[in-house]
Amino acid sequence: MSIDLQDVTRRFGPLAAVDGLTQRIEAGSFFAVLGPSGCGKSTLLRMIAGLEPLDGGRIALGGRAVAAPGLHVAPEARGLGVVFQSYALWPHLDVLGNVAFPVEAAGSPRRIARAEAEAHLASVALQGFGLRRPAELSGGERQRVALARCLAGRARVVLMDEPLANLDPHLRASMEGELAAFHARAGATTLYITHDQREAMALGTQVAVMNRGRFEQVGPPEDIHDRPATAFVARFVGRGAVLPVQVLAVAGGRAQVMLAGREVEVACPHGLVCGPADLLLRPADIVPDPDGWLTRGMGITYRGGDWEMRLVLADLPDSDPLVLTLPQRPPPGEAPAVSIHGGWILPRPQR
Ligand code: ADP
Ligand code: MG
Repeated sequence: MSIDLQDVTRRFGPLAAVDGLTQRIEAGSFFAVLGPSGCGKSTLLRMIAGLEPLDGGRIALGGRAVAAPGLHVAPEARGLGVVFQSYALWPHLDVLGNVAFPVEAAGSPRRIARAEAEAHLASVALQGFGLRRPAELSGGERQRVALARCLAGRARVVLMDEPLANLDPHLRASMEGELAAFHARAGATTLYITHDQREAMALGTQVAVMNRGRFEQVGPPEDIHDRPATAFVARFVGRGAVLPVQVLAVAGGRAQVMLAGREVEVACPHGLVCGPADLLLRPADIVPDPDGWLTRGMGITYRGGDWEMRLVLADLPDSDPLVLTLPQRPPPGEAPAVSIHGGWILPRPQR
C-alpha cells in the first residue's frame, strides 16, 4: 500500500509542527524520515496512524483517504503496524502471547500462532523469553518484543518511530540487519522515523530529511549524502564543512568557484547560476598539499585506526572546520596546507 500525503498540516498554537507536507511514499518502499528532535517527525507518524488529528490536508493509504477535514478513519481500521520508541506491551500476557496476538487475532490457530511467534522472537534474539511477563524485561528487550509483534502482524504498512533508540549499539546494528531483512522478505511499505543519520542511510530506500515541519530533500541515501540540496541537509547528514564561495562559471555539471582567494573546480547541481553559493567539503574531499590553502589547526582526535584533524582555512577563520583524515598522528607544529579533490556546491536559496 502506498502512503499519500497531500498538504498535511498540524498546528500547535502558532507552531506548524507539520507544515503543508506533500509526498507520495511508494508501496513497498522503506521510507526513512530523518530530522532533529522537534522537527515534527512523531507528529507526522501519529497523523498517519490516526492518533493525531489533521488541521489541513489529506492522507490516503493504498489510494483510500483515511484522514482529511471531516474524515477520520479509526487507527485500528487503517491496517497499520506501529512501533514506538517506548511501546506498551500487554502486561497480563507473557512475551509469547504478546507476539502471537496479531496472528491469533487474524484467525490462525493458537498452536501455529505461537510457533510463528517463537520464530519472530528468535529473529530479535529473544529465544527462551516467551514465558516472561513484560515487567520482567529490560527496556531494550521490551522494544524487541514490540518489534517481533509488529513483524508477526504482517501489516502492509508499518510505521516505526525511533524503534532502536533505546537499544545498545551492538544490538542496534543487528536489529538494523533484522529490519532490512524483514522488509526485503515481507515488502511492507515502511515509514521509519529516526534522528540517526547512519540508521536512515543504512535502512532507507528513500530518505526524507525533515526540518521545521517540512521535507528539505527526499531521495536515495546516496543523493542525500553526496548531493545535498541545502546547507541544512549537508550539515545534518554525514560530516563536512560548508564554506562560502563565488561561482565564476558553470558548465556540464562542474562549477569554477573562488574559495578564499583561489580558484577550484567542483561538482554542482543542474541549473546553478553564477554568484554567491556554498561549497560542501566532506573529509574525503580534502588532502594535504604543500601548494594548497594555508590552514590553522583546531584539534586532533584519534578515531580508532585514523587520526582526524580539524582545521580552518587561514583566510576563512570563522567558517565550519574542515576534517582531514590522516593515517598517522601528525607531527606537532603547523597544520598542513590542503587542496581539494572533490566537493559539492549548494545553491543559496532564492529570495
Ligand atoms: P520530533 O518527533 O521530530 O522530535 P514532534 O513531532 O514530537 O517532533 O514535535 C514537533 C513539535 O511540535 C515540537 O516543537 C513539539 O514540542 C510540538 N508538539 C508536539 N506535540 C505537541 C502537543 N501535543 N502540544 C503542543 N506541542 C506539541
Ligand atoms: Mg519524536
